Amino acid sequence: MWTPDTRLARHFTVRELDPEGAADGKHRDRLRELAGVLEIIRERTARPVIVTPSGGYQPPAEQQSRPWPPRKPTSQHRQARAADIIVRGMSSVDLANLVIALCRGGVLDAVGGVGCYRGFVHVDTRPRRSRQTLGYQLAMWAGDGIDLDRSAPRFSLG
Ligand SMILES: [Zn+2]
Repeated sequence: MWTPDTRLARHFTVRELDPEGAADGKHRDRLRELAGVLEIIRERTARPVIVTPSGGYQPPAEQQSRPWPPRKPTSQHRQARAADIIVRGMSSVDLANLVIALCRGGVLDAVGGVGCYRGFVHVDTRPRRSRQTLGYQLAMWAGDGIDLDRSAPRFSLG
């Protein structure tokens, strides 16, 4: 079953992460994993996590019923691995730093990328590369003019 009301995690439904209802098997599995990540963020912030209107899975062009932001086919949103999120009462910088801290603490092992923008934070479940040999491989970046966290490892565009 994959209707708008289908629950992906306790507080997240298909409507939020796949508004077109277009995800197939592999992508549905990824969206469930992603919803699990959002659930943990919700728990840790003790506030609702809101997915922005175009911030979930972006299906192939032929399955789109409304204009979506231009994204490369390689975008994590097109792989059903990304959510752009807002937590009311928290700045993007604070939210991004919290997510990064949870990743470093091993609480959010499924997260592979965190991007901080004005107005929202991008979180994705891309596989982290060879953590044992290459060290911490979380991809992190910040939009223009945003000072995310001086103590963070250097940002990489991922
Ligand atoms: Zn995004």
